[in-house]
Amino acid sequence: MRDPRYDVLFEPVPIGPVTAPNRFFQVPHCNGMGYRDVTALATMRGVKAEGGWGVVCTEQVEFHYSSDITPFIELRLWDDQDIPALARMADRVHEHGALAGLELTYNGMNGPNLYSREAPMGPAHLPVATWSLDPVQARAMTKQDIVDLRRWHKAAAGRAIKAGYDIVYVYAGHALGGIHHFLSPRYNQRTDEYGGSTVNRMRLLREILEDTREACDGIAAVACRITVDELLGDGGIDRAAIEEVVGELSEHPDLWDFVLGSWEDDSVTSRFGPEGAQEEYVRGLKGLTTRPVVGVGRFTSPDTMVRQVNQGILDLIGAARPSIADPFLPRKIEEGRLEDIRECIGCNICVSGDFTMSPIRCTQNPTMGEEWRRGWHPERIKVRGSETSVLVVGAGPSGLEAARSLGNRGYDVTLTEATRQLGGRVWNESRLPGLAAWVRVLDYREQQIRSLKNVEVALESEMEADDIVGSGFEHVVIATGARWRDDGIGRWHLTPVPGLGVLPVLTPDDLMAGSRPPGKRVVVFDDDHYYMGGVLAELLAAEGYGVDLVTPAAQVSSWTNNTLEILRVQERVLNAGVTVRTARTLTALGDGEVTIACAYTGREETVPADAVVMVTARLPRDELITDLTARTDEWAGVGLLSVRAIGDAFAPATIAAAVYEGHKYAEELDGPPRTGDTVPFRREVTGLSPEEAYT
Ligand code: ADP
Ligand code: SF4
Repeated sequence: MRDPRYDVLFEPVPIGPVTAPNRFFQVPHCNGMGYRDVTALATMRGVKAEGGWGVVCTEQVEFHYSSDITPFIELRLWDDQDIPALARMADRVHEHGALAGLELTYNGMNGPNLYSREAPMGPAHLPVATWSLDPVQARAMTKQDIVDLRRWHKAAAGRAIKAGYDIVYVYAGHALGGIHHFLSPRYNQRTDEYGGSTVNRMRLLREILEDTREACDGIAAVACRITVDELLGDGGIDRAAIEEVVGELSEHPDLWDFVLGSWEDDSVTSRFGPEGAQEEYVRGLKGLTTRPVVGVGRFTSPDTMVRQVNQGILDLIGAARPSIADPFLPRKIEEGRLEDIRECIGCNICVSGDFTMSPIRCTQNPTMGEEWRRGWHPERIKVRGSETSVLVVGAGPSGLEAARSLGNRGYDVTLTEATRQLGGRVWNESRLPGLAAWVRVLDYREQQIRSLKNVEVALESEMEADDIVGSGFEHVVIATGARWRDDGIGRWHLTPVPGLGVLPVLTPDDLMAGSRPPGKRVVVFDDDHYYMGGVLAELLAAEGYGVDLVTPAAQVSSWTNNTLEILRVQERVLNAGVTVRTARTLTALGDGEVTIACAYTGREETVPADAVVMVTARLPRDELITDLTARTDEWAGVGLLSVRAIGDAFAPATIAAAVYEGHKYAEELDGPPRTGDTVPFRREVTGLSPEEAYT
């Protein structure tokens, strides 16, 4: 049972008129489901409450049509029509005794209003501060606009209460909420009583907190989520300013929720920031208020949580990502099962769901976002459908997850791995600069598999078709991964790059296996666009190579825009001394040089090089599946029922996708055959308006 050291985490915490049953607080986080996938979202939040989170919040909730952040998909509370959707989530959360929080958001100059086509409003006439740099300006709010905004916010707080919420947020954080823009000298250039001094800049926040309190009227608590430092020196909200704000408004909200900088700063990935990176910015602010304080820090260690509480930094342990990776984290601490915690690896694949407007996914937790859609649960899985035995070949993320989940279902499983090390690409990649935390994908699964008596692991067991046919297993899963190509074929080149053989070529696999280019000058050709090209450039530069990073994209590692890392990636490779050649493609290899061309004009130039690292595309390691498929007529004779490739051996993708595929295989074994003739997951189809609405 629970270690008494952690008792403090399970103390109830009064928050204004309501009481959180413990200190575990799922702060608001986006998920790409929002108003489109209402029931899926409600079910996901309910699972977190079931897992022991004492407070479970929504993502940002747009409360007025003049503030929409289309194409992002968040929740909406524009009028009473939206109440039932919001209520569904509150109900799911209440079923498990948790409090439900709702984050009212007026995006202001962060929303381009592409859906409503209203002119966005902000403190000043300024271009909207959107990620997509929309050609839209926010207009400076008049006094009447401010009066209107206050009325809309208050009405929305009333609707939040009608929907059953216990905590109503006023959002002034992350440069996403319009109130943040008023607070920040960076955006607020007003000369009236809402601009200038800190007291003036906080006026709107004060008024809206007061309005919200009136609306909540002792029924629900009022929370204030606020950026404690914009990391812009005195050009933005700094320590002095935030101390003044929290000092002045200390008792206005019932709860302070402190965040750091913009979303990129607050949800920093493990590649760029450690667990608890916010601590130095939040420390000391609690002393300015008697109200409870919540904050985040990618916390997965209960000792860190206890220390934050005991040292008076936080009262409530806030979490978005740790609650995504492990919705049952509180329960596991309570039940003394720390070894079962599935620790967040800090990769921000979860954030990519929001950025790509698709349902949230998680590298560590393959059930995230699938709770309603597919009926998956992070801790429970249906028992086996038969007494068959399964051979899993390859112990990368996909094979490990398949073995773990099949083992949990009760199947007899053997996991074979060619090398003497479990983990496949996760193990290899976790030794690259900044990616050490990714090894948690292996650590969690290795630990779980070890506790399963029905799963056997065989290292240094490279399998060939002959070993498999006649081995007695009824189902065989091929999870043998993929190899990086060395011919330059990828997005740009669909035929091999000219000049192969003239200059040494290495792949990411070669570098991860310890090979290094000859000479001192290396060109990294990145046509993959996620992290690998940037990370390898960083690795080689740190080892003293002169590195040119050539990529057809406009930025290095351009897909990391979806993981909030893109700006830090540029900074890191430039500071590492890498020569960045964006919008350039590799056109030929020569003797001691490569030819590159402008991606737009085709204009060519040469760059001296002793070797090239190709980061372009991968090919499935599918020899086994090919060999076994060629011998299908032998299967029945040896009792072999099925052979399937999963993960990168099927189609190379992210680690998150490999884990997901491994889990899917385990969930579906002994289920209905996959014919593709029916949609294999639930969808929420929009109800049609009455016919007369057309006229
Ligand atoms: P995924 O991302 O799909 O899980 P990985 O490339 O991470 O794939 O892992 C594949 C694993 O399979 C590697 O650890 C590799 O050593 C192992 N492997 C590849 N071929 C064989 C084989 N024939 N027999 C056993 N293990 C194999
Ligand atoms: Fe953590 Fe990555 Fe999962 Fe997000 S996707 S919760 S960062 S493991």
